[in-house]
This record gives sequence, C-alpha cells and structure tokens, in this order.
Amino acid sequence: MEDCLFCSIVKGDIPSTKVYEDDVCLAFRDINPLAPTHILVIPKEHIASCAELGEEHEALIGHIFTVIAKLSKELGLKDGFRVVSNSGIDAGQTVGHLHFHVLAGKPMNAKMV
Ligand code: 5GP
Ligand code: ZN
Repeated sequence: MEDCLFCSIVKGDIPSTKVYEDDVCLAFRDINPLAPTHILVIPKEHIASCAELGEEHEALIGHIFTVIAKLSKELGLKDGFRVVSNSGIDAGQTVGHLHFHVLAGKPMNAKMV
C-alpha cells in the first residue's frame, strides 16, 4: 500500500524500535508513548482497520494475540496491560493500517470512553 506509514515501517523505509518480528507481524514501540510501555503490534499485510477483517484473517488475528501474550511475559507486564485497536474517525484512528496498542506500566482508568 503506497503512502502508508506502517507499511513503510514494515519495509524498513521508516525506522522503528522493534521488539518482535516474524513472517506475518511486527511489534515496535509507539513514537508517542501514552504509558511507560506502549507497543504497537501490526500485521505486515496492509489491512486498514478492524472493520476490514474477514474470515481469511482469523488465523492472523489469533496469531497476533498469541504474540501479544508472549510479549507481555517477555516484557514483564505482570501487573497487567491493555490492548486497544482504534477503528475509524470516532475511535480516533490516525494511521490507516490495522494496529493493536499494548499499554502497560501504570494503573489505567477502567472507563474506556
Ligand atoms: P491510532 O491513533 O491510529 O490508534 O494510533 C496510531 C499510533 O501510531 C499513535 O499512538 C502514534 O503515536 C503512533 N505513530 C504515529 N507515527 C509513528 C511513527 O512514525 N513511528 C511510531 N513508532 N509510531 C507512530
Ligand atoms: Zn499499510
């Protein structure tokens, strides 16, 4: 996908601080962290948002959550973490490439909106 920031990060055209990578997904630190630990986990394939997911993506999404679970252990997120994926304008999505925020390292308000 041309002009997609996260596709450029996948390609290595834009640098990122990677914490995990395999054939299908990449995890890197958010450039503007909202918590002491703020990781973005993305599929390497360009998918615009959760709204564009189909049955063909079920294995990929399951894999991404397994990676998140492994990362939570490797990064020592023993006190908990939050996974967020913003989809569309009302959710405040600013990058149009599916991504899962993993936030941890401080108590977070239970209210989501
Ligand atoms: P959204 O607002 O779409 O849910 O999340 C996009 C996230 O991407 C934001 O938290 C923002 O800080 C992060 N971000 C934007 N540009 C870059 C970048 O160039 N590098 C990294 N590592 N994160 C970015
Ligand atoms: Zn993309």
